[in-house]
Amino acid sequence: MSNHKSATPGIPHNSSSSDTAGAGSKVSNFISQIISEDLQSGKCQSIVTRFPPEPNGYLHIGHAKAICVNFGLAEQFGGQCNLRFDDTNPSKEEQAYVDAIKADVKWLGFQWADDVKYASDYFDQFYAWAQHLIAEGKAYVCDLTAEQASEYRGWATEPGKDSPYRQRSVDENMDLLERMKEGEFDEGSRVLRAKIDMASPNMNLRDPILYRIRKQTHHQTGDKWCIYPSYDFAHGQEDAIEGVTHSICTLEFADHRPLYEWLLEHLPVPSKPKQYEFGRLNVNYTVTSKRKLKQLVDDKVVDGWDDPRMPTISGMRRRGFTSQSIRNFCNGLPISKSDGVVDIAQLEFSIREDLDKNAPRAMCVLDPVKLTISNFSEYIGGDVETMVAPAHPKTDMGQRQLPFTAELYIDRADFSEDTSLSRKKFKRLVLGDYVRLRSAYVIRAEEVIKDSGGNITQIIATLVPGTVGENPPEGIKPRGVIHWVSATEGKKATVRIYDRLFNHESPDKGESDFMQYLNKDSLQVLDNCWVEPGLVEAEPESRFQFEREGYFVADRYEHSSSGPVFNKAIGLRDTWSKGS
Ligand code: ATP
Ligand code: MG
Repeated sequence: MSNHKSATPGIPHNSSSSDTAGAGSKVSNFISQIISEDLQSGKCQSIVTRFPPEPNGYLHIGHAKAICVNFGLAEQFGGQCNLRFDDTNPSKEEQAYVDAIKADVKWLGFQWADDVKYASDYFDQFYAWAQHLIAEGKAYVCDLTAEQASEYRGWATEPGKDSPYRQRSVDENMDLLERMKEGEFDEGSRVLRAKIDMASPNMNLRDPILYRIRKQTHHQTGDKWCIYPSYDFAHGQEDAIEGVTHSICTLEFADHRPLYEWLLEHLPVPSKPKQYEFGRLNVNYTVTSKRKLKQLVDDKVVDGWDDPRMPTISGMRRRGFTSQSIRNFCNGLPISKSDGVVDIAQLEFSIREDLDKNAPRAMCVLDPVKLTISNFSEYIGGDVETMVAPAHPKTDMGQRQLPFTAELYIDRADFSEDTSLSRKKFKRLVLGDYVRLRSAYVIRAEEVIKDSGGNITQIIATLVPGTVGENPPEGIKPRGVIHWVSATEGKKATVRIYDRLFNHESPDKGESDFMQYLNKDSLQVLDNCWVEPGLVEAEPESRFQFEREGYFVADRYEHSSSGPVFNKAIGLRDTWSKGS
């Protein structure tokens, strides 16, 4: 199927869409080359990677990329990948996020090694290591206020100044740290800092903070701690404890690498992981920042983190995207050393490609107008003739039964009274002309009935006998094929149509706040749609191609046989890049 129009010719698309869970990228990239070399040289016997989310929001498409990279490399080299929560900041974290993240990673098709891990599992060890640094004269308790500390830090172009507390004795530092831990001091009154170099050109080495006081209950450790390690004091040590060999993160951490290495060098850690950075994935027309996504949720712009318009993994899932297509998308992107923006059409292409192959076909009329077959009883005994259609045109997925009755619905857009419309341009039903009803008869539109406002309320048509699966007699040329649903045997359904959440290519980087670029028409709810009766039995999350309309999914939470609800995943073609 060549639905893929202008969107990104020459995408480095991974064409193998094998169905094995976690199908990793076998493509070679700079990180896989480093790993190959490390294994060959015996620098490591096997590799350990990790995916380290902070549980302060749901995972998004950018995280999907990091997941595919970390789990994919472990798979490719027969190593292991840990799922480890970087839960060092209880003020923004929640158990609900932990649960959602675990579910998303699993749904994407990956299984972490052993049990889920938490930075908070190692808080006792981190504390002991903080004492170790103090004992070595490499850390001190500092009482500068936040403003003072920032003044002392200097600028990128100007060295900082030593804190007046830098020369505290080992004993005093030990005592103060202990009392910070015991909750004697207020939040913000004291921090533990590494003693490195206030004149370093790398700001991260200007005596960075190791511990802060935060009198907060933690989702894992409860009230055991009121001091929490900084990201920098935690991350590398977590990696070392877990025997992570290749700690892969995004570029913004490149400047932290010297600190990562400094800490590993000055602590008695059990292993020496190495940090590597790659470019973040950004997708146009969307935002990939948990903070901004949280704002959309908090401001009720969307209906929760898993709203189908959200670029979250659970949002994409609810939208009908498959995990395979998300993996194909991520694995098809290069792992580069610079940040890049990927066209969202490329993601949509992956979805379409997967669903075209794997989604059974069905008929749904989104904007119904009644069509009555006036000669039905002349040719058909009883009220219903059951038509049979394949569930999929190429793959054997069984057959669907389609009840054909005297009263049908077709889509309003598939009919016109304008007999001057060219056959080439309008391959649908025109008054006085013929069209084929998909998997059923060729019909001819005979007349229309209108209400007092001039709106068509009914089309009267006749069927051409003997045309089910057969060509019509000489002289009858249907303009095209349209879809239909029985008005008496079909079922009413709600269908939700989604559009992009933002109407700006880079909502983050526009001149205004990203919220200014919200697309007001990103959700359309159609509550008078008609589906073929078989669809009512669809399991939640089953996906279909509604013929001539696009790909749809039975809503994960709201679909039921008494109230069918479908979400539109994506259209049949890329309509955006055609010039809008
Ligand atoms: P956000 O900015 O959305 O809050 P984050 O980096 O703070 O993201 P973390 O939970 O710390 O979120 O991320 C976990 C891992 O996912 C990190 O290793 C991070 O580098 C990676 N990651 C986050 N966003 C992206 C992205 N857009 N592309 C690739 N990797 C990402
Ligand atoms: Mg982060």
